[in-house]
Amino acid sequence: MRGIALPSGEAVPVLGIGTWGMGERPGSAGRETAAIHTALDLGMSVVDTAEMYGNGAAEELVGRALATRRDEAFLVTKVLPHHATLRGTITACEGSLRRLGTDTIDLYLLHWRGGVPLAETLEAFEHLQRAGKIRYWGVSNLDVADMEELAGSPGGQDVATNQVLYNLTRRGIEFDLLPHCVRRGIPVMAYSPLEQGRMLTDPVLARIASEHGTSPAQIALTWVLRQPLVLAIPKASSPQHVQECHLALDVRLTPRDLADLDRAHPPPSNKRGLEML
Ligand code: NDP
Repeated sequence: MRGIALPSGEAVPVLGIGTWGMGERPGSAGRETAAIHTALDLGMSVVDTAEMYGNGAAEELVGRALATRRDEAFLVTKVLPHHATLRGTITACEGSLRRLGTDTIDLYLLHWRGGVPLAETLEAFEHLQRAGKIRYWGVSNLDVADMEELAGSPGGQDVATNQVLYNLTRRGIEFDLLPHCVRRGIPVMAYSPLEQGRMLTDPVLARIASEHGTSPAQIALTWVLRQPLVLAIPKASSPQHVQECHLALDVRLTPRDLADLDRAHPPPSNKRGLEML
């Protein structure tokens, strides 16, 4: 699978799997686990979760799913902003490691910015890195001003990703945040790339999908992945949905498709505040 280089030079695949909402219904655990295994089988090895999801239930499900396949995954989880003090981040990380059943998190993110100074959270991330509990750290939901503050903090240049809301109907980051990250070589991890399923009935998307003999979800993902340094983590909770998402990598959008999608969902012409879900 096509990869994206982290600032360290290590490559990660452009397509992974999100887990928000997984692990919350015992009756769905088998299907959700099978979805994660299918993602690994297909090389969609970035597995994104968070201590927040189901109050740890998603991390527990991911931990069980990866019990015998930990080495195949690039595991991403997140600390809540109100835990993100020096001591709180370390305690939260230890809780995540326990629920995930692993000794090391590949990428540990600040879920969004809260009241704790970024420099303090960074200090915690560096401590966790030195202790071998996390390999890389990054942020989520940080707009340009916060990214600039981060870059000016000691160690802030080591940020490995900014995970933000990005899909055809949420293009605000194209104005300045995406170019800012690309200029600095920071991969952007697009969350909710399918707008949580709401965009799948979009008529233009549906028409282009039918012209390509594919599905709206695949067109939506191909669109997100059309540019360098962007990876996507759709949440697909069945093997079939995972397989469909994977096929997005085979779709080639034509200049006419892109122009039609731009007309239906124009790129931003001015600065908008970063949207979050
Ligand atoms: P997505 O945009 O990924 O959409 C998920 C929805 O799309 C689900 O209803 C899913 O259904 C459906 N779907 C998936 N694949 C297909 C397919 N092939 N065809 C049709 N429908 C499909 O929403 P999320 O908000 O879950 O975002 C993805 C991940 O990003 C999250 O799970 C989480 O890991 C992360 N995230 C991070 C945030 C942050 O603040 N950092 C905020 C929000 C999300 P089904 O489940 O039935 O497969």
